[in-house]
Amino acid sequence: MAKELDIAGMLEGYDKDKITIATVCSHSSLQIFDGARKEGFRTLGISVGERMKIYDAFPKAKPDEFLKVDGYSEILERTEELREKNVIVIPHGSFVEYLGADEFRKLALPTFGNRRVLKWESDRNKEREWLTSAGISMPEIVPNPEDINRPVLVKYHGAKGGRGFFIAKDYSDFKLGIDHTKEYHIQEYVMGTRYYLHYFFSPIKTEGYRTKNGVLELLSIDRRDESNIDEMYKLGSQEELKKMRVFPSFVVTGNIPVVIRESLLPKVFDMGERAVNRAYELFGGLYGSFCLETIVTDQLEFKVFEISSRIVAGTNPFISGSPYSDLMQEDLSTGRRIAQEIRLAVETEQLGRIIS
Ligand code: ATP
Repeated sequence: MAKELDIAGMLEGYDKDKITIATVCSHSSLQIFDGARKEGFRTLGISVGERMKIYDAFPKAKPDEFLKVDGYSEILERTEELREKNVIVIPHGSFVEYLGADEFRKLALPTFGNRRVLKWESDRNKEREWLTSAGISMPEIVPNPEDINRPVLVKYHGAKGGRGFFIAKDYSDFKLGIDHTKEYHIQEYVMGTRYYLHYFFSPIKTEGYRTKNGVLELLSIDRRDESNIDEMYKLGSQEELKKMRVFPSFVVTGNIPVVIRESLLPKVFDMGERAVNRAYELFGGLYGSFCLETIVTDQLEFKVFEISSRIVAGTNPFISGSPYSDLMQEDLSTGRRIAQEIRLAVETEQLGRIIS
């Protein structure tokens, strides 16, 4: 854990004028490197295997240097040389997923954000406890498959990017689709439109939408393109397709920028504020970027089905800003906002408040 690792001690030994922003070459790394460079930082890309060539196609987002490793676990062994370069690591979805949450907690490098969140986020029950105790509405759970009497989503634990989820409308649908070798839970299928809200919380900024522990920002919103559910309608009814054993899947393949109706913004901020306030009570805070994955019903109510406590790939369409971040500062991506926060923390000697 962060305390045992003595992250504060590591930061003390750092040359603050030579901080290097590092992340794994994947997911949102183009945006992170581009944003870091715009804020005057050196950048380092950790390439798991041969990932370097693609950056030649995007020179403005090419890191200053690469560290090539053969597998994710090798990163854990190479931390000393990274610390010598004054590296601050920016975690993203692929980094945490493929290294593994438990391993990530042991990573002996200063990391942007609060790694204590991992315990709450990677366990679906704890995630639900956090959000519902914050007063955030989530899809209902159906404990017993025999009680399915409306559309539900059967979610396998540890599914990556919705792979293998399936929709059931009754018990016989469930029996047809279920793989009993895997752990699962059954969730009400919320009918509505999906919005993935990209927030940023700063415990050190003083101006903006103030909350108990700092300032909350909304940087952008996306909707995910999911294969094959998003295009499946072209083949006719799902019932017909089911007979041919063709089932919908929810594998993320891309992201589309969206804006939400303006009258929903107070609710958007209220939910973000609740998630952060409760995080401070439960485990010392949620700082930096995070995302609430939501569905808005035709009653204009939000249901949150997941929280991601770091930069999400849905921020990638906004390298040059979004309709929301444009109203704070032009050309502000989430990647750049992260770098700004680190810069502000260095200047005000508060790195310990945003790094763990
Ligand atoms: P990731 O970790 O990449 O976010 P995941 O495997 O945890 O993915 P979810 O994000 O929970 O999966 O869900 C995948 C997709 O399934 C969502 O993007 C959404 O399209 C759909 N979905 C999830 N929960 C619900 C729900 N309760 N009602 C309707 N659709 C849902």
